[in-house]
Amino acid sequence: MTPPAPAQTQFLRILSRDEAEAAFHAALRPRPLRHDDVALDALSGRVLARDVAAPVDAPPFDRSMVDGFAIRAADLAEASGAEPRYLTLNAEIIACGTPPALTVLPGTATAIATGGPMPRGADAVVMIEQTDPEGAGIAVSRAVAPGAHVGFAGSDIARGQILLRRGTVIGAREVAMLAAVGLDRAPVWARPSVAVLSTGDELVAPGQPLRPAAIYDSNGPVVVAALRENGCDAVHLGMIPDDADALQAALAAAHAAHDAVILSGGTSKGAGDLTTEAIAGLGAPGIVAHGVALKPGKPLCLAVCDGKPVVVLPGFPTSAMFTFHELVAPALRLMAGLPPRTEARVTAHLPLRLPSDLGRTEFAMVALTQGPDGLVAHAVAKGSGAVSSFAQADGFVTVPALADSLAPDTQVQVTLFGPTITAPPLAVIGSHCIGLDTVLGRMADRGLVPRVLATGSQGGLAALQRRECDIAPIHLLDPDSGTYNTPFLAPGMRLIPGWRRMQGIVFRKGDARVAGRDPTEALAALLADTDALMVGRNAGSGTRVLLDRLLGGARPQGYWNQPASHNAVAAAVAQGRADWGMAIRPVAEAMDLGFLPVADEHYDFAVWQDPRDPQAMTAFQDALAASTEALTAMGFAPASGDRP
Ligand code: AMP
Ligand code: MG
Repeated sequence: MTPPAPAQTQFLRILSRDEAEAAFHAALRPRPLRHDDVALDALSGRVLARDVAAPVDAPPFDRSMVDGFAIRAADLAEASGAEPRYLTLNAEIIACGTPPALTVLPGTATAIATGGPMPRGADAVVMIEQTDPEGAGIAVSRAVAPGAHVGFAGSDIARGQILLRRGTVIGAREVAMLAAVGLDRAPVWARPSVAVLSTGDELVAPGQPLRPAAIYDSNGPVVVAALRENGCDAVHLGMIPDDADALQAALAAAHAAHDAVILSGGTSKGAGDLTTEAIAGLGAPGIVAHGVALKPGKPLCLAVCDGKPVVVLPGFPTSAMFTFHELVAPALRLMAGLPPRTEARVTAHLPLRLPSDLGRTEFAMVALTQGPDGLVAHAVAKGSGAVSSFAQADGFVTVPALADSLAPDTQVQVTLFGPTITAPPLAVIGSHCIGLDTVLGRMADRGLVPRVLATGSQGGLAALQRRECDIAPIHLLDPDSGTYNTPFLAPGMRLIPGWRRMQGIVFRKGDARVAGRDPTEALAALLADTDALMVGRNAGSGTRVLLDRLLGGARPQGYWNQPASHNAVAAAVAQGRADWGMAIRPVAEAMDLGFLPVADEHYDFAVWQDPRDPQAMTAFQDALAASTEALTAMGFAPASGDRP
């Protein structure tokens, strides 16, 4: 008997970004849903559904704009310094909130406070500073024009006037307008109520302990936050296991109770296509796009079921966010009555070629630094599975579907994630070390937040050479001279000594092949054991140079497993995926691994002798000097003397 063919409905037809958007909008026809009458104190950020006309005048009566005296302008027409006019005071003082009782007759004046209602008979106000008390009255030595210092009824807002137009996003100023004419509520578009579901057996809610092979649900919380930023009420309904019945039930309940449903995960080819199958029974027309030529974000699924959008975002967090912002948020904003998001763009210099897939619109995240002639865009490519690239990036560059790359040394348009960017005072590009976080933390305490990009030593030196960063942390061993870092400086550069980190063999405590031996014996034992599995390091890293020296040409099992960080090496050993590797001592200790010291490595900072911002550079050196104790406590040794 042949086994049943697996469901292969997905990605039958990949749509372009624009085709997918058109199909989604044609089926959904996104528009505001209904309106709510909302109280003044809850109106901020809401969108007016109807024009609001003023029910009363503001101000509601003629009032004095100054402290002074309500008078008849005709009485003072001839007043001058040489011939002041004398006015008798009426037996009344008009304060705010008290209606006047007496008429201002010719030859008289009534004291009035700012905001006080004008009394009958008066047509102007003379400021108190322009009068002199005289007997039972005042002397005025200048003429006053009719209407002077009077705010007339309706002069600010006239009854019946359209105060606020529909579509206005309400902020503090709009609230002030409504309150001034006595309105305590306003009709605004209802916020679409959107249910968020994360799917996957591997998901654990943040705040809970992580099981083996599990990961935290990051999509759920980030989608909720992004929905709120786009005018929706978001409810995270939690995590649903990869189980057809559970998913079907959760999806049906969410669809019935909300205006839209956003799921994530379960759309990529592989362990069944549970989410898209669950959507099939929800209502017409159903799925309108499954598979969109976007990178990241190909496995996006867009559906409309009984007039409500049902979207399955790709599982990988970066893909989920890009597809949400590109194709889902615009439709939801229309449903929320919000105007399209205004995107801020800047032009930046692209120093390195940016490769891209032909046939897919690709969004490449970039971090910006200040270069010699304006902004520089550094790609922060960590793949669509990474969450941190989002946090490091300032925005993204769009590579059209028909381009296979963006050429180096060109100007590119960067769409910013936020409304503005402020160039960081200091850009640090190169090799990362946990000790660096301590130093930079001290700068941050003083309000200086440097931009840090971990590219490895070589990438950092190249960026420094192009003057696209201020500091390049490096740990490069020159195999010929056996010295670190100095041989790699270009003319005009200098080295700020950092610290030494002990590199060595990491292994699980109690491993008899290694424990208690010296590195040479341990290595011999490991190489002799055909079961021993190592974990390597990426080419270009200082640790790799050291490792290759130690191995002397041997290529044991696991050598080609080459992660790019000390943490990854230690994690592989701690989790039993490898038995040994090379990493720095603090990382080995943090994971409770055994450690056999092999060599001291120098981690220093390459800088130009004439820095772009000498003050920021001094602040860095001060922070470095102040960190000695903290670094020692972390297991780093002070740099041995000043090297050229
Ligand atoms: P899937 O589309 O379910 O095959 O998921 C693709 C990848 O995204 C897998 O590595 C998942 O573990 C990951 N993933 C799925 N859902 C989430 C989530 N809510 N948060 C973080 N990662 C996720
Ligand atoms: Mg999944």
